[in-house]
Amino acid sequence: MNLHEYQARSLLRAAGVPMPDGDVASSPAEAESIAARLGGVVVIKAQVHAGGRGKAGGVKLAKTSSEAYEHAARILGMSIKGLEVQKVLVVPAVGIASEAYVGLILDRESQCPVLMVSAAGGVDIEEVAATTPEKIHRLAIDPRYGLLPHRALGLALTLYEDFAAARAAAGIMQQLYAAFVANGASLAEINPLVRTSMGQVLALDAKISVDDNELERRPDLAMLRDESAEAPSEVAARRAGLTFIKLDGNVGCIVNGAGLAMATMDLVKYYGGEPANFLDIGGSSNPEKVVNALRIITADSNVKAILFNIFGGITRTDDVANGIVAATKEFHVKVPVVIRLTGTNEQVALKILEGVGMRALSDMDEAVRQAVTLAREAA
Ligand code: GDP
Ligand code: MN
Repeated sequence: MNLHEYQARSLLRAAGVPMPDGDVASSPAEAESIAARLGGVVVIKAQVHAGGRGKAGGVKLAKTSSEAYEHAARILGMSIKGLEVQKVLVVPAVGIASEAYVGLILDRESQCPVLMVSAAGGVDIEEVAATTPEKIHRLAIDPRYGLLPHRALGLALTLYEDFAAARAAAGIMQQLYAAFVANGASLAEINPLVRTSMGQVLALDAKISVDDNELERRPDLAMLRDESAEAPSEVAARRAGLTFIKLDGNVGCIVNGAGLAMATMDLVKYYGGEPANFLDIGGSSNPEKVVNALRIITADSNVKAILFNIFGGITRTDDVANGIVAATKEFHVKVPVVIRLTGTNEQVALKILEGVGMRALSDMDEAVRQAVTLAREAA
């Protein structure tokens, strides 16, 4: 689950990370009154689940509160990477001497949190990573010991020669790590971490992604979810109890079980196709789940063919067949559907499908190849 900057800021602040005070607004008038209250120059920042807001015109300095009103009016309602801005953050502006990057991710390859820092922070960090990766220093953290002070200081000294600044940055890295662990984050990032013209080290941006599994035991974090800022298909899937991740390909996949879903996606790729999604309809697949799955997948205009891959164990294949039939009665499925099913109640399922003139395959390879070919022909 991605958090907005203003939400991430409050988690980092709770961990002690220093940053300028600010407030969120949903209207230009609100932004204006926050700016008036803060006094002086402020920054108006679009709150959307996307990076690169600065470059997209979603971060603007305002010298007066009426200028804050104007910028907020322009930024609210703006679309950044397809996401509509519904809130802006208003914070006092800071004079920046230098911009650094500090980020933590859960790295699946090294199987531990990895801290990444760079003195070349700011809006071009992606380009730095792509063209001069040697400017990014990495440290894998053993979660048993956490981020040890001397390791943090070692990294901080790659950011600042000034010892006081380095010590401040090291403290912030440890606070960032504490917030990362305390909130079950898969990513926590400060970009830019700035050194102000007064010599202070401050976080001017905050980004946190919380591992969805953390939300079960942390209702306080789950409350931070902003469904209006998420992909509509992912919201619909979550409501329907489906594990769904939208991807960019054209073969829609409806599978039971996460492992089989991943194997199916691998096979789609193996045969030269691109999966449009990951979707696990779960163990006990009542027909309604299948109807919801089909509705969500057919709403994606990239999808040119749909592949069912059902291995009936606890899942009864006749439930799935009934779901497919119910869905085709409820709405028109415009793209070809390839069904592979085998296992529990297979004969019943085949009869149900035959009843509406549909066929099913039992071989996974063949089904995947057919779906990939059909999608390619339609594209
Ligand atoms: P992002 O582009 O979505 O990552 O948004 P950021 O919050 O990182 O803002 C982008 C850029 O705006 C920063 O790298 C800064 O250069 C600039 N910026 C943000 N806040 C301030 C501020 O208080 N003062 C000044 N001078 N620039 C700021
Ligand atoms: Mn940023």
